[in-house]
Amino acid sequence: MLKEQTRADLLAKYDVPAPRYTSYPTVPYWSENPTSEQWIAALRQTFIDNSQTAWSLYIHIPFCEALCTFCGCNTFITQNHDNERSYTKAIHKEWETYLAQVPEFKTAPIRQIHLGGGTPTFFSGENLKRLLRPIMDVVNIDPAHFEGSIEVGPRVTNREHLEALRELGFQRISMGVQDFNPEVQHLINRIQPYEMTRDLTLLAREVGFESVNYDLIYGLPAQTLESFRKTAETTVKLLPDRIALYSFAFVPWIKKAHRLFTEDDLPKGADKRALYEIAREIFLEAGYKELGLDHFALPDDNLYQAYEQGELHRNFMGYTDMRTDILLGLGVSSISEAPTCFHQNEKHINEYKKQALVGEIPTLRGHLLDEEDQHHREQILQFMTQQKVQLADETQAEDVRQYLAELLNDGLVTIEGTHMAMTERGRPFLRNAAMALDMRLRRNKPDTRVFSQSV
Ligand code: SF4
Repeated sequence: MLKEQTRADLLAKYDVPAPRYTSYPTVPYWSENPTSEQWIAALRQTFIDNSQTAWSLYIHIPFCEALCTFCGCNTFITQNHDNERSYTKAIHKEWETYLAQVPEFKTAPIRQIHLGGGTPTFFSGENLKRLLRPIMDVVNIDPAHFEGSIEVGPRVTNREHLEALRELGFQRISMGVQDFNPEVQHLINRIQPYEMTRDLTLLAREVGFESVNYDLIYGLPAQTLESFRKTAETTVKLLPDRIALYSFAFVPWIKKAHRLFTEDDLPKGADKRALYEIAREIFLEAGYKELGLDHFALPDDNLYQAYEQGELHRNFMGYTDMRTDILLGLGVSSISEAPTCFHQNEKHINEYKKQALVGEIPTLRGHLLDEEDQHHREQILQFMTQQKVQLADETQAEDVRQYLAELLNDGLVTIEGTHMAMTERGRPFLRNAAMALDMRLRRNKPDTRVFSQSV
C-alpha cells in the first residue's frame, strides 16, 4: 500500500492530458479521411472477407430539452418535438441508402442495437417504435444473441417508453445519474431527485429490463468526499447491474457551456481521484467487480462475464460485452467502424438531414487504417480492456520499456519479456501507459490541449 503522500505525488506527476482510447487512432489523429465511396467499399470488403460477419447498429438521437453544463456529447437543445418526425425521416433515408449499397445489412446477423444521445427518450415511446420498426423488420435478428440497449434520461422517461422498448426486444437500459447531491445537480443544471431515479429503476425492472446501468461522474463542481460517499451509498442501495464511474472531462475549448463554472471549482489530481476511490470502495464492498478503466458490474452481469472471459470490448460507447466487425452509426455525428475504416457523419443537424434526405452518405470525416494502425488498435484494445497486453517482439518491448521508464520505476506497470501489465496500484494510470502503444501520438505530439487530463 502506498503512503498517502507518495500516492498524491504520483497522481500529481501523471495527471497529464491523455486519450481515453475509445478508438485507435484517436479522433484528433484521424488523417486518412475516407470518401463515402471508400467507406462503403470498406463495409463491403468486410462482408467479403468474412462471410460470418456480424454487425451492430448505433443510432444517435441528439435532442435534449435542456443542456447539462458538464455535457461533452453532440446535442441539439430544443423543446420542439416536431423534430422527432423529421429526424426519423432522415434516419430512414440514410438507412435505405446503406441498404441499397450494402445489401448484406439485411442478411448478416445483427447482434446489437444501441440508441444514444442526446436523450433518445426525447422521442415518445410511439415514435421510438416508428423509428426502429422499419429497420428491425428487415434485418436478421438472431434472438439468442441480440442485445437492445438505450440511454435514457430519467427526467423525461416514462412507462410508455419502457414498454415500447420492451416490445421491441430491448433488454438493457442505461440511466444518466451523475450525482445524487442536490447542490451538484444545481451546478450542472440537471435537477434529478433521488425518487425519480429510484422510480425509473423499479419501473425498468417491473417491465422486464434485464440490466440497468447508472452513469456517475466524479470530478464535478462541489463534489466532496462526504457528498460523493453518499451518492455511492445511495447507488448501491438501488442495486444497478452496472455502474460507469466516469472522470469528468473538463474540455472547455470544446463545450462553451462548461464555462458556467470555472476550472477552479473542480476537484483535481489526488483530490479528484479520492472521489473515485471512495465510490470504488463502496461498490466493491457491495459486491460489484471493477473492470476496465472506470466500470463496475455485478458478478452475474454480462459485462463482468465478458471481462472474465477476456472478451470485454471498447468502442465509442465505452465498454461493451459484445464485439462485432462492423458498427454502423446512423444519425447526426454518429461514428461507425469497420476493420479498416472509421467513419463519422456530419455534425450539424441541418447539413446531416440535407445530405441524408437526398440519398448521400453524410460523411464528415474518418480514417482509413493502415496495417500498422490495425496492429496498434488491437494492442490498445487489449490493454484498455484487460490491463495487460502481449507486445509484438523484443524490439517493441524495449521501446515501450524506455518510453515507460518512469512508470516502471514507480511500480505502476511491469514488462516481463514481451508481456506488459498494469500493477494494482497502477490502475489509475492505464491511459498514461496506453500512450506507449500509440505510435501516432508519439510521433506527433499535439501542440495544443486536445485530450482531457488522465486522472
Ligand atoms: S441529457 Fe445527457 S446528452 Fe443531454 S445535455 Fe444532459 S448530459 Fe448532455
